[in-house]
Amino acid sequence: MASHIVGYPRMGPKRELKFALESFWDKKSSAEDLQKVAADLRSSIWKQMSDAGIKYIPSNTFSYYDQVLDATSMLGAVPPRYGWSGGEIGFDTYFSMARGNASVPAMEMTKWFDTNYHFIVPELGPDVNFSYASHKAVDEYKKAKALGVNTVPVLIGPVSYLLLSKPAKGVDKTFSLLSLLPKILPIYKEVISDLKAAGASWIQFDEPTLVLDLDSHKLQAFTAAYDDLESTLSGLNVLIETYFADLTAEAYKTLIGLKGVTAYGLDLVRGAQTLDLVKSNFPKGKYLFAGVVDGRNIWANDLAASLSTLKELEAVVGKENLVVSTSCSLLHTAVDLVNETKLDDEIKLWLAFAAQKVVEVNALAKALAGQKDEAFFSANAAAQASRKSSPRVTNEAVQKAAAALKGSDHRRATNVSARLDAQQKKLDLPILPTTTIGSFPQTLELRRVRREFKANKISEDDYIKAIKEEIKKVVDLQEELDIDVLVHGEPERNDMVEYFGEQLSGFAFTVNGWVQSYGSRCVKPPIIYGDVSRPKPMTVFWSSTAQSMTARPMKGMLTGPVTILNWSFVRNDQPRFETCYQIALAIKDEVEDLEKAGINVIQIDEAALREGLPLRKSEHAFYLKWAVHSFRITNCGVQDTTQIHTHMCYSNFNDIIHSIIDMDADVITIENSRSDEKLLSVFREGVKYGAGIGPGVYDIHSPRIPSTEEIADRINKMLAVLETNILWVNPDCGLKTRKYAEVKPALNNMVAAAKLLRTQL
Ligand code: GLN
Ligand code: ZN
Repeated sequence: MASHIVGYPRMGPKRELKFALESFWDKKSSAEDLQKVAADLRSSIWKQMSDAGIKYIPSNTFSYYDQVLDATSMLGAVPPRYGWSGGEIGFDTYFSMARGNASVPAMEMTKWFDTNYHFIVPELGPDVNFSYASHKAVDEYKKAKALGVNTVPVLIGPVSYLLLSKPAKGVDKTFSLLSLLPKILPIYKEVISDLKAAGASWIQFDEPTLVLDLDSHKLQAFTAAYDDLESTLSGLNVLIETYFADLTAEAYKTLIGLKGVTAYGLDLVRGAQTLDLVKSNFPKGKYLFAGVVDGRNIWANDLAASLSTLKELEAVVGKENLVVSTSCSLLHTAVDLVNETKLDDEIKLWLAFAAQKVVEVNALAKALAGQKDEAFFSANAAAQASRKSSPRVTNEAVQKAAAALKGSDHRRATNVSARLDAQQKKLDLPILPTTTIGSFPQTLELRRVRREFKANKISEDDYIKAIKEEIKKVVDLQEELDIDVLVHGEPERNDMVEYFGEQLSGFAFTVNGWVQSYGSRCVKPPIIYGDVSRPKPMTVFWSSTAQSMTARPMKGMLTGPVTILNWSFVRNDQPRFETCYQIALAIKDEVEDLEKAGINVIQIDEAALREGLPLRKSEHAFYLKWAVHSFRITNCGVQDTTQIHTHMCYSNFNDIIHSIIDMDADVITIENSRSDEKLLSVFREGVKYGAGIGPGVYDIHSPRIPSTEEIADRINKMLAVLETNILWVNPDCGLKTRKYAEVKPALNNMVAAAKLLRTQL
């Protein structure tokens, strides 16, 4: 009876690690305090898995910050600017790389594949002196062993490590990261030998990059790496774990040809092709770790369906060689359902968080071994059936309306330049109009008001009064600064997705359903469990209240359907695009109600559109088509004179620029200031863009206040590539996390720069 878990959340059921880290960083607690919290979390996880009956329990999946940074530490690949002088890497160096320190900024962070987890990108060059500088993997293995648990130590595989790295600044363009393989493998060998000496009998290498579109040169690197490791690995069972998608036929061939490898971990949830690959060819005597329990969602597994898949696999690989596993690390799901006190019992029956998934994996393994827990399986079947038939899930009218959208097209009737003319007649804006992205600083006082209203500690009247006062303050400030298109500042919103989810039907919210985003930061995605509809207007009251306070145009502020989808746990009983269309229809109603209420400019944020891009290029076109279509659905019904804005938090869209244009917004505001003008290069290369565009003129992620000259300089650079009459002037993103003492002078300089340039044009 064999069961395996790829990896487990580190934060703890109530974010214990987050609080311990932050208190340590604030110097409110000691390194020993932090280590104690970490040790307790690790041992409780090991104990929980071993009590559940899991055979292959992972270790070294805990991390104080990030597993890729742990690998960087293991290899001693500390960038020189951190002044590390060798020896075992301690908290100082480790957290400096992760978060920067007083004199040096942090290393870059980027998305972990298509998840919402972010890792610290290794910076490598030909001169890095690799050395075995963190013994964390073997230490954790030993700690577990001392507790009586013989774990499978997990390492990021050497090839994935290099493929996820970037060349350090100043490194020659011809430098190939993979050329470092012969330099890092000796360190891996030291680690492997250490683990063997400590008693490990299995080892897991996570090589998720195998699921990407890899050319043969990259695939050969896997072959070369494991060829080289083979003799060191002998005597160990070696699992190569892949996840987040299926493998291409070539990658699969490479994987099953790797020397010294005894087991393959495959994602059977996201990988449509995986089953066929295994059936077509599976090496005799090797183990298949079949990832049938979804590590990226919060839904209870359909155990009967999984069991029949497993039986099919068993027929191919043999009874002794099939191991039941999760599709990927459980890092990407919430921790434990037992802490959900506010979810109702019906919905709770449909869910499984990490702790419950461990039990599911084990129940499947037992069933395969002929010890099926009938009660557990029938309870599961009943929950699946109740989810299918629950009237809370299905809303016929919504289903019909969304189905009617498929295969159709929705566009505004008039082209963008004619619309911009019509809008200009109504709005009468100066050239280089100024605006902001939506939120203004969220003070402690503001958060308190929202919290107390939620907890019924203050009356609705008092709440409305307080929010109105805040809006008035923000409106007055913007008038004083002489900004052209105003915002209400979003004081009533805690989060741009949660705010809408709470008012839409089909959404549920957890109290402790946190998922690590990076370091100590966690997000609590809403759960979309049913057909989505909008019972009543969501923002009209606040936007029209704000508009009544000023003669200037007030932007209505909405979150777009693709962003709501991508930042939620999405139902798995219908395709993602159907859920997205449903949300689009709900937002469309809101857009039209705002228009009726006299709001002439409406911003529909699609901060997360790019994030949803599938890992494999072959799937991009389909995703972009329905995502962009969903956006257009929201505003295809407005008049020419209503100006639709959208906003995106990244500028790295050279590859999707045609989809951005196809969104057909009147104005797009985008992050730009941190990206070395990658964005502008698109236009320099001749992409025609006729709509309004506001590439952020300063970085809101930093407390630094940009000078007027600096901003003017930025705008001038943009003017060199873009037509004067389409350029907008705005910050990079919302101002929510900044202080008024930063926002006021920064916006003041921004407006001054716009005014200065207007006189010169
Ligand atoms: N309108 C939102 C704000 O200003 C946009 C946030 C975002 O793009 N992430 O806060
Ligand atoms: Zn943004």
